[in-house]
Amino acid sequence: MPLRVLQGVGKALAEKLATRGLLTIQDLWLHLPLRYEDRTKVVPIASLRLGEAAQVDARVDAVERGFRYRPMLRVTVSDESHASLGLRFFHFNSAQAAQFLPGRRIRLYGEPRPGGRGLEIVHPSYRFLAEDDAGALNERLDPVYPAVEGVGPQTMAKLVAEALSRLPPAEDLELLPPALAASFGTGTLREALLVAHRPPLDADPALFASGHHPALQRLAIEELLAHQLSLRRQRIALRAHGAHPLQGAGALPARLRAQLPYALTGAQARVYAEILADIAQPQPMLRLVQGDVGSGKTIVAALAALAAVEAGRQVALMAPTELLAEQHLANLRRWLDPLDVPVAWLAGKVTGKARALALARIASGEAPVVVGTHALMQEGVQFRNLGLAIVDEQHRFGVHQRLSLRDKGRDGERVPHQLVLTATPIPRTLAMSAYADLDVSVIDEMPPGRTPVTTVAVAGSRRDEVVERIRLACAEGRQVYWVCTLIDESEPDGPGAMKIDAQAAQTTYEALGAALPGLQVGLLHGRMKPAEKAAVMARFTAGELQVLVATTVIEVGVDVPNASLMVIENAERLGLAQLHQLRGRVGRGAQASSCVLMYRAPLSQMARQRIEVMRQTTDGFLIAEKDLELRGPGELLGTRQTGLASFRVADLVRDARLLPAVQRAADHMLSDEPELADRIVARWIGSASRFAGA
Ligand code: ADP
Ligand code: MG
Repeated sequence: MPLRVLQGVGKALAEKLATRGLLTIQDLWLHLPLRYEDRTKVVPIASLRLGEAAQVDARVDAVERGFRYRPMLRVTVSDESHASLGLRFFHFNSAQAAQFLPGRRIRLYGEPRPGGRGLEIVHPSYRFLAEDDAGALNERLDPVYPAVEGVGPQTMAKLVAEALSRLPPAEDLELLPPALAASFGTGTLREALLVAHRPPLDADPALFASGHHPALQRLAIEELLAHQLSLRRQRIALRAHGAHPLQGAGALPARLRAQLPYALTGAQARVYAEILADIAQPQPMLRLVQGDVGSGKTIVAALAALAAVEAGRQVALMAPTELLAEQHLANLRRWLDPLDVPVAWLAGKVTGKARALALARIASGEAPVVVGTHALMQEGVQFRNLGLAIVDEQHRFGVHQRLSLRDKGRDGERVPHQLVLTATPIPRTLAMSAYADLDVSVIDEMPPGRTPVTTVAVAGSRRDEVVERIRLACAEGRQVYWVCTLIDESEPDGPGAMKIDAQAAQTTYEALGAALPGLQVGLLHGRMKPAEKAAVMARFTAGELQVLVATTVIEVGVDVPNASLMVIENAERLGLAQLHQLRGRVGRGAQASSCVLMYRAPLSQMARQRIEVMRQTTDGFLIAEKDLELRGPGELLGTRQTGLASFRVADLVRDARLLPAVQRAADHMLSDEPELADRIVARWIGSASRFAGA
């Protein structure tokens, strides 16, 4: 039922609500309060506490209208506890101000803060009480809803209350089959919704705050189930497409393997075999390869690419940054040129003649392998017969982008096989929910000959010692990364952040050059032209530069085994996943490596914990688990990983223990109750599902 059927909802209001995805009455049922206000009791002014919102019955003592910078209304009230309280308004009209007459009874609610003359509440909610009004108290907590731009909190509360008044009887609302509902041991959805919106007086506020209250858990279960069902549906839809089975004699991949100076690790060989088995099928592969930084995913992808080429199909490899894509290009050309397999290159910066040529080689199939950035997904890029799409560092791309590359290679009902590489180890609990649509392979073994990286934390005030350490390392022929981070957390990828980062790197670059006479220092940041970046990288790789000052652009993919010392400046600003990725740039050679985390004191509790984790372990999976604990899943996967950020009630960390049962329930519903399954998905995820079109 559309929102317009509710009283007072016209076109304008409906449009505002739609910006938050609130389109139907059902959406309002699921629009849950952020927190609650307790108007079930009245508190004496004398026992008000700073920062704790409360309800007070008082009388107006004095009123002042003033103008300090802007119009202001200040009202003093007091109650029978003989304590007084200030009220302050900045937005008010004359009629409103005139209502505050000394002696009048007033009931108000708000959060006391320190004011000029004792406690004060800014913009309390209030109503005047008649002399004979006993002032009935609420019997339930009041919900406070997430703000919707242009819709006042009271309007919002009223709308939701009206929507709730239209809740159908429990049995009509219920979509969980009775046996399933019983297995979870929770009440009905109707009950859960009513309690979640208006908790009863005896409800334990702590259980609500933490989300462990049975009513919230009941909602979380159904939401998790909806997501699980939706992902399974996507998987089924994908498998319903056909794919060209890619099967060759294996001669080309064998020639590449023979050319390598090393043998594949057991894990690499196993994962490669899993991929070969998948792409030989007439259904599309959809496989995620997880492997810690440095575990050797690239060669596995290259072998898979050759297998596809041998089977007569084209292969695209897409990376999220130009630097990373360029490295893949260099690797692939080095490996494939001797085998006479041409590799085409396409990125945003490839323009004019070069672009036309690349497009022609891709369209004609003259280039059986194509490497690039998201430019590969642009209009005008026409593949010849794309059989395998490889995407590196998956979670920097949204699910949509992954699908869009696949659609580029659509051939009637057949779609390309897809291989996704990620260096971010995803904790099992998250993988189950985020990637229920993917098969997962794990490269859980490092190439031999690596020495673990020692990590130390050093206060920024000891910068001189760190510089001395760099001098010593370089004197021994080693190379050093110095990573500058000044990222504004509110805008980690924005152009502003990149500019500040680049400036910080420039300053450090100059300072280090001066402090380390005789050493060659290089600079790498995101605002440099690709050709400049490539030139600097080449000089560092060749050992002509001893020290590379860089922004976090080097986070992914850079591979220089002789670099064995990394300094990360302002390490407290980075998350665990990013620190781990950065640190993965060292420890790639045989010599002992170290990582210095420089921080600016004082450290927040969170930053301290992160640095401690980094010192204790180099195991990417362990770090990811810690990261999940510390930050929660939305941040771990980034907001671009839609879907996960959009849970309304469920929390993958808090509710992890529910997942196995939810998965069993999903299996059961898909086979026995497909219609109910559809309705649960529609209720929680809606028709605008990100999986539409899978
Ligand atoms: P990532 O998984 O982080 O993408 P890379 O593919 O860049 O890792 O590999 C990291 C380094 O390990 C590269 O220098 C690569 O040549 C090397 N490498 C990969 N596989 C092996 C192996 N089986 N034995 C030895 N070195 C290997
Ligand atoms: Mg890589």
